[in-house]
Amino acid sequence: MSTWHLDCSACDHSQAGDTIASTCPACGQPLLVRYDSAWPSRDAIRPRWDMWRYAAVLPLREGEQPTTLGEGATPLHDLPALAREIGVARLWVKDEGLNPTASFKARGMSAAVTRAKALGVPGLVVPTAGNAGAALAAYGAAARLPVRVYAPATTPSPILATIRALGADLQLVEGHIGDAGKQSRAFAAAEGYFDVSTLREPYRIEGKKTMGLELAEQLGWSLPTHIIYPTGGGTGLIGMWKVFGEMRDGGWLAPDVRLPRMVVAQADGCAPMVRAFQAGADHATPWENPSTHASGLRVPGPLGDRLILRALYESGGDAASVSEATIRADTLRLSRVSGVDAAPEGGCALGVLDLLVRQDRIPRDAQVLLFNTGSGASYRF
Ligand SMILES: *Cc1c(COP(=O)(O)O)cnc(C)c1O
Repeated sequence: MSTWHLDCSACDHSQAGDTIASTCPACGQPLLVRYDSAWPSRDAIRPRWDMWRYAAVLPLREGEQPTTLGEGATPLHDLPALAREIGVARLWVKDEGLNPTASFKARGMSAAVTRAKALGVPGLVVPTAGNAGAALAAYGAAARLPVRVYAPATTPSPILATIRALGADLQLVEGHIGDAGKQSRAFAAAEGYFDVSTLREPYRIEGKKTMGLELAEQLGWSLPTHIIYPTGGGTGLIGMWKVFGEMRDGGWLAPDVRLPRMVVAQADGCAPMVRAFQAGADHATPWENPSTHASGLRVPGPLGDRLILRALYESGGDAASVSEATIRADTLRLSRVSGVDAAPEGGCALGVLDLLVRQDRIPRDAQVLLFNTGSGASYRF
């Protein structure tokens, strides 16, 4: 849609849409896009095979061309044998590892870089656990904008190699993504580069919400009963929960469709959202000494904690974590029953599903969709 406002997710601040924006100037919480015009009918879906198929409900000016590399339009695989093994009625995996630079970070960066370019920023910077940096390097190259990336030195080497190959200026950081964030913000303040950190700008969520549009369309405008989402910063979970509400209010879903229960999957070594959910809290406290080989999940203090928890409570969702050994075993299990080259984050989602079914927290008649968010190839080194 061509015009929008940015509303604070926590207070009543609201500002004009198409300006350089970060977090709420009043309270520091994330801003969310609210469109000015009425939600269009499904006829507005464009006949193209990337996420800009849904341009009519994304932040794109009239006549504007997005910065795109063919992100989205990823396959949804039905896995009846694995569903029987786990003990649910239906199980799908959505394979986000097939996106440009091999993760769903492509969706968010396509939207964020499209806006940043339109607003004339001199360059782009991001702190990353890996895949966000690779995606930004690619979309920055496509937009002909310089990119700087701050990543932990422990980031899987194939991802670091991709960031360098795409021409970004890579800075290795001792510590985790939170430490990278401090350096990235200092650089952005000094050089005027636009900081596209998770939820420090409002457009990556809009890109990632296309996962919700796409899975609904792939399921004939119905929805699964449960979505298992390997959660780091939570952008995709927040984006999907936002768009499910938009689609329901806009009449895109069958009238009897119930919105899915959103389920956070994390690793035992970094599970701030699981801990906060179990405590019934409205925000999370940072996880001490975060550690997991599923690097996309190594986010000790997500800025979107309140929005993640709100989606869990509103949807009647759940949250659980599993061990490194379970993540390893279920990554191989997912790959070997599906042919999808699963990332550890996808294995984590399967491990959490298995756990919740065994604990009767997901019922036997559930129709479950789990996300494989990256590619196994990025972690083989
Ligand atoms: C970033 C990332 C995640 C976490 O995504 P969020 O939307 O930030 O929670 C999960 N898996 C992979 C492979 C990632 O790169």
